[in-house]
Amino acid sequence: MLIVLKKGTTEEEMNTLLEMTGIFGLEVQKFQSDDITVLSLIGDTRKIDTDLLESLDMVECVKRVRESYDGCSRRRHPEDTVIDVSGVRIGGGSFAVMAGPCSIESYEQLLSTAKEVKNAGASVLRGGAFKPRTSPYAFQGLGDEGIRILLDVKKETGLPVITEIMSLKYLDLYSDVDIIQVGARNMQNFELLKELGKSDKTILLKRGFSNTLDELLMSAEYIVSGGNSNIILCERGIRTISTHTRNTLDLASVPALHEMTHFPVIVDPSHGCGVARYVTPLSLSAVACGADGLMLEVHDNPSLALSDGAQAITGAEFALLCEKICKIRSAIGN
Ligand code: PEP
Ligand code: MN
Repeated sequence: MLIVLKKGTTEEEMNTLLEMTGIFGLEVQKFQSDDITVLSLIGDTRKIDTDLLESLDMVECVKRVRESYDGCSRRRHPEDTVIDVSGVRIGGGSFAVMAGPCSIESYEQLLSTAKEVKNAGASVLRGGAFKPRTSPYAFQGLGDEGIRILLDVKKETGLPVITEIMSLKYLDLYSDVDIIQVGARNMQNFELLKELGKSDKTILLKRGFSNTLDELLMSAEYIVSGGNSNIILCERGIRTISTHTRNTLDLASVPALHEMTHFPVIVDPSHGCGVARYVTPLSLSAVACGADGLMLEVHDNPSLALSDGAQAITGAEFALLCEKICKIRSAIGN
């Protein structure tokens, strides 16, 4: 970490600062010229509050050289991490499509959608059992019954499954779930992240709709620091001034995250735009941007879906999209 001091800072002021940094057992090197003094702090600076340092009168600016998300950082781990979920590889050039309904509504509904998406090329089945809904009066999901249906359909089709966790009190229900999803609303539920850090399950961590990429990676760091490095990150759109879509799908986050971290990055265009008609173009754009996979909401009859029907594509549309994905992937050399 580098601290640039304002011109005119006295030795006495500097000593107060050195006392502060000394608490953390850091080595300090001083570089001084006529008009600038720079302190270089060497050691583990992760506990240092840069905002506090910057608030001091004598400090011009502070620059972290090493990221606080050490376990996630590309600098520390230059090779891509490849996640293997029951034989499905994601990252490092392996691409996976996760698809299925927003909510699990019944065994028949999930099984028929699962068969359709599997035939079209999906390698992971998605389906929500515990649903984070804005209104308490909206369909909340089938809960534990939904997880049972998901596991039955997994057995029937052989597809690995992903579903969202909302509360640690249901963690035991997820023992046969292949990927646990932490949704946008829980991206900064640190107690949940700490507990998932103790498990060896693959965690799909979605970006919160008002969170920066640094914050997303700090959340992933909670899981890594607990000992679990099976992480997939997911861009699912953020809140902006735009009103023509439900969220603004930030596709630039894909190459940016690939620079910042070694973990695979997938894109969820369904929540990213909220409009079924836009899902295909945005999916193809995400592939062209280098995404390691897609998460798509598919429903056999979107107009009757119990949640997120407006953004669901049909099985037939999904099959067409999968063909186009293959073309884009081969066009960009994959
Ligand atoms: C979902 O995947 O169904 C979901 C609720 O996603 P998000 O957390 O991105 O809103
Ligand atoms: Mn949904």
